[in-house]
Amino acid sequence: MENLYEATVERYRKYVMPTYAPKILFVRGEGARLWDADGREYLDFATGISVCNLGHCHPGVTAAVRKQAATLVHVSNLYMNEVMPRLAEKLIENCFDGVVFFANSGAEANEGMFKLARKIGNASGRNEIISMDNSFHGRTLATLAATGRAKYRKGFEPDMPGFRQVPFNDIEALKNAVNDKTCAVVLEPVQGEGGILPADLEYLKQVRALCDEKGILLLFDEVQCGMGRIGTRFAWQSFGVEPDAFSMAKAIANGLPMGGFITKRKYADTLTPGTHASTFGGTALVSAAALAVQEAFDNEGVLENCREQGEYLRRQLGELGKKYPFVKGVRGMGLMIGVVLDREAATLAGLCLKRNLVVLTAGETVLRLLPPLNLTRAEADEGIGKIAAALEELNAAIQEG
Ligand SMILES: *Cc1c(COP(=O)(O)O)cnc(C)c1O
Repeated sequence: MENLYEATVERYRKYVMPTYAPKILFVRGEGARLWDADGREYLDFATGISVCNLGHCHPGVTAAVRKQAATLVHVSNLYMNEVMPRLAEKLIENCFDGVVFFANSGAEANEGMFKLARKIGNASGRNEIISMDNSFHGRTLATLAATGRAKYRKGFEPDMPGFRQVPFNDIEALKNAVNDKTCAVVLEPVQGEGGILPADLEYLKQVRALCDEKGILLLFDEVQCGMGRIGTRFAWQSFGVEPDAFSMAKAIANGLPMGGFITKRKYADTLTPGTHASTFGGTALVSAAALAVQEAFDNEGVLENCREQGEYLRRQLGELGKKYPFVKGVRGMGLMIGVVLDREAATLAGLCLKRNLVVLTAGETVLRLLPPLNLTRAEADEGIGKIAAALEELNAAIQEG
């Protein structure tokens, strides 16, 4: 009989483009737990990069997907399905008044949002978008041009024109960069890939005021920090600063591929028939999953729990970090948490994994923790225990030189 792990590694090696280098084969998930091909159990503080925010195989989402899969999956947007507009209604009921466009991924959501900004700006000869250093907006050509992490663009030149970066959390730099070509500013309220770095509240308010003064759009990329991750349904609600449009993806359907963006009612008629489209966007099946996610937010205390467990984890990890000079601090909001080191975080991540705790890194020096939003206190404590042991082992290795 074939060894599943070895056979899978071989199929990857032979037939899958090596854009990733995965090492562990997971075969099952439930809540905050994952199991690998050898039956080993893991605690998941990565949730597929903030995608399975309600945990793996959430019963409400699974039931909704089962039912919809047996009823109607897809008809294209040239015909109506009843689920997608229900989802749009639900999102807007919990947001500012506006409209939604559904796509399939974070990059596609951002592309649509950039098209919205250019369409509005071009009416007055403005079409440049300012983004932030260290930002991440996706891997398609336009979102790469917006992405502040220059290494991701390397080899794919020429950069798509119309994008320019300024330092994050620096209002003077932004003021200096805005000119009569600028149509929008885009930023992540909490930078994810760049290192779990929240915007300063004062800065965000000043950016909002600047955009109002200059008549340009403020766009938020909430692909990672939205959908409850920082303790509010939409990330902007944690700051009380309203963008003109914002994108969502990752967790919106708890693992099924969906993205989208919301804009204010006054821009609702910018993208009219024929100006923007997506074959799969808002298909009935994925919309049913996303609607179940919203229902869990309504009925299962997910956001409150995220705030509570997030505060607890950040406090405990902060205390733990004080014991080690190589830990520079703990930052983040809700359950979007970064443990900042003075060195590469990959070694610490490996030591966590060795203890069956699934984690991520961000930037080069940040251990990134994105547990499910319905994490229990016991699971939080279990994770902290594993991180404590990993830190202790790293410390010993450093002492030995
Ligand atoms: C993951 C991510 C994206 C890209 O999403 P994809 O679904 O991979 O295209 C864009 N912006 C942010 C902030 C992200 O974290």
